[in-house]
Amino acid sequence: MTTLRNLPSVEQMLQTEAAAYLIARFGRPLTLDSIRFVLDDIRTRFQSKLITDLPRTESILAQTESQLTAWTKPTLLPIINASGVILHTNLGRAPLSDGAIRAMDIVSRGYSTLEFDLESGKRGSRLIHAESLLQKLTGAEAAVIVNNNASAVLLILSALANRKRVIISRSQLVEIGGGFRVPDVMKQSGAKLVEVGATNKVRLSDYQSAAEEPTALIMHVHRSNFKLVGFTEEPELKDIVEAAHTAGVPVVDDLGSGALYDTAKYGIAHEPTVQESMQAGVDVVCFSGDKLLGGPQAGIIIGKAELIAKIKKHPLARAVRADKACLAGLSATLLHYLKDEAEREVPIVKMMSLTLKQVKGRAEAWAAELGQGPALSKVEVTVVEGESTVGGGSLPGESMPTFLLSLQVKSAEKFLRALRKNNPPIIARTENDKVLLDPRTVFPEQEGALLVGLKNILKS
Ligand SMILES: *Cc1c(COP(=O)(O)O)cnc(C)c1O
Repeated sequence: MTTLRNLPSVEQMLQTEAAAYLIARFGRPLTLDSIRFVLDDIRTRFQSKLITDLPRTESILAQTESQLTAWTKPTLLPIINASGVILHTNLGRAPLSDGAIRAMDIVSRGYSTLEFDLESGKRGSRLIHAESLLQKLTGAEAAVIVNNNASAVLLILSALANRKRVIISRSQLVEIGGGFRVPDVMKQSGAKLVEVGATNKVRLSDYQSAAEEPTALIMHVHRSNFKLVGFTEEPELKDIVEAAHTAGVPVVDDLGSGALYDTAKYGIAHEPTVQESMQAGVDVVCFSGDKLLGGPQAGIIIGKAELIAKIKKHPLARAVRADKACLAGLSATLLHYLKDEAEREVPIVKMMSLTLKQVKGRAEAWAAELGQGPALSKVEVTVVEGESTVGGGSLPGESMPTFLLSLQVKSAEKFLRALRKNNPPIIARTENDKVLLDPRTVFPEQEGALLVGLKNILKS
């Protein structure tokens, strides 16, 4: 009769060649852990009579290997984004330029001048690294880089408006996404929120009368993820700034998306640019590094030297400071703009600037490639007109014309699931039970893997 005594011991298992191979791949402690885990599991199942025979050593080792693979499998995986959403928050927002990646790689591999002044041989400041580039690009007097734009807003308000009044229009008390609500962040900073106007209408006089009492700031927030339409009114930024300055109050503009270029060039709406805020006379502007700028995750704060100095000195600045890889990647990204090569080098700008003809050509090439071979007898493959979106908390409701590969499959949901299970996973979308893939957001070097994945799924 089979008894648990027939089960090999951990020691016996370790003697095998297969175990030596697992130790070489996964390390001894983890391999030991997983052998014990698998043996325990077998014992439990045997005792509770879920199994009547004990597995052989090879089979136990095979289970051990699967267990080790499951334990060490990465969860943060690269994917192919065929959704046509250029800045997809769930898919990691902005892919970086080669220049940014090189800069991050070099600075991460070794030591650097992060906080070291080569001239004097003494301690330097990490805050200088992107600052001069931002000064040149925007005309700002000074800059600070932090972790992301959410922490930028929190830091600005904490440093400049703790326990003081901050005026904001009710039309700008927005939620950015992921639970980031402007009124909540303002409260968190200790600022006293002074709401003016109505949801749809605010007048200059609303700001002016609120600013008659001592006020730390007027806060202006870009509605980056929705549109206000219909019976609406809002003064222009430069008029708000003028009224604020007359009352001796500085203005902070949370731009969110942070474009340094005119998005209207690409056939979509004009997104307020950083330069425009500066020209309007805003005292402090903040924006994301990984939205329309197309750099690494960062919060960029620029503005008047005196205010930026206060922000730099606040204790929170230390808590939300950017790391060396971010500073290197961001500087390299900013340099693309300074050298007027963003359209060629910054992936998201490149994607926006693709012409319809280029996108159509790629979709047609995909269709032609899939059309070859027997796989497609059951699926209708066509190229159709459609829309790409910018997304990622910018340009709400805006889209750019594109061409899509359309697959008329039996079950679009099942097909999407199979695409997600592909290695690398492919993210597409569906419409009217068709699976749609947008070449705009697929890198040319990913096309081979995309087509192999599609062919395999179509065949199965
Ligand atoms: C996106 C956004 C933020 C948050 O920026 P993160 O970089 O995602 O932290 C803040 N304010 C506005 C207006 C935004 O659009």
